[in-house]
Amino acid sequence: MISLSNVQKWYGDYHALRDINFDVYKGERIVVCGPSGSGKSTMIRCINRLEEHHKGQILVEGIELNDNLENLEQVRCEVGMVFQHFNLFPHMSVLENLILAPTIVRKMPVKEATELAMMYLERVHMVAKAHSYPGQLSGGQQQRIAIARALCMKPRIMLFDEPTSALDPEMVKEVLEVMVELANDGMTMVCVTHEMGFAKTVADRVVFMDQGQIIEENNPEDFFAHPQHERTRDFLSQVL
Ligand code: ATP
Ligand code: MG
Repeated sequence: MISLSNVQKWYGDYHALRDINFDVYKGERIVVCGPSGSGKSTMIRCINRLEEHHKGQILVEGIELNDNLENLEQVRCEVGMVFQHFNLFPHMSVLENLILAPTIVRKMPVKEATELAMMYLERVHMVAKAHSYPGQLSGGQQQRIAIARALCMKPRIMLFDEPTSALDPEMVKEVLEVMVELANDGMTMVCVTHEMGFAKTVADRVVFMDQGQIIEENNPEDFFAHPQHERTRDFLSQVL
């Protein structure tokens, strides 16, 4: 569903992605980890072209990400993204946040978008807050709304960039639970996270990045029990 081949990216002189080769298959749950500055956000942001890559090829559902805006629009419809900071519109209610993109981008009638939104609110256990404003919700609740908002676009792939790292510890669990439910429903997911418990229980594959490269990837059992590279062992000794 996602294929990166020989992808390179620079920020000015800084070589942020160095020859990334990375494939994600339908229904796979991938956890991406690695030290700060290793290029995790850059890589997943390239998958929906929030960042542009400079060399190599990125295909999402067979559509190439390049200067073609039609391609970009198609890919954005397939890929939902959830960020560390939830980026909800503060002046809009939860429901208004949820129906905004489906009605404008997907041109869905308001009634249909509302029904869909209520369905996803149920899925993230937030129906009671449909008419609240983001500022009235806890961080964990806002993040669950952000997940529901991404789902309202009916994406085939969900990208998460450290969705729990800005949350107070007691709220991490409720967000991870929603992500586990999504994974159990078969959603294709790429998650940048330092939640190694999540990686162990949910991931099909764990990818370790350092200095703009994928250093190693493996199933979680082997990744944690037998890391192959010194840098992976160093990293794991710090996070576990
Ligand atoms: P973290 O765990 O801290 O989120 P990360 O692995 O997500 O780190 P990136 O955000 O992808 O790392 O950044 C990779 C490198 O690229 C870093 O050295 C960062 O300083 C640099 N970088 C990221 N965004 C930009 C930008 N917009 N302009 C210049 N340099 C950037
Ligand atoms: Mg990051």
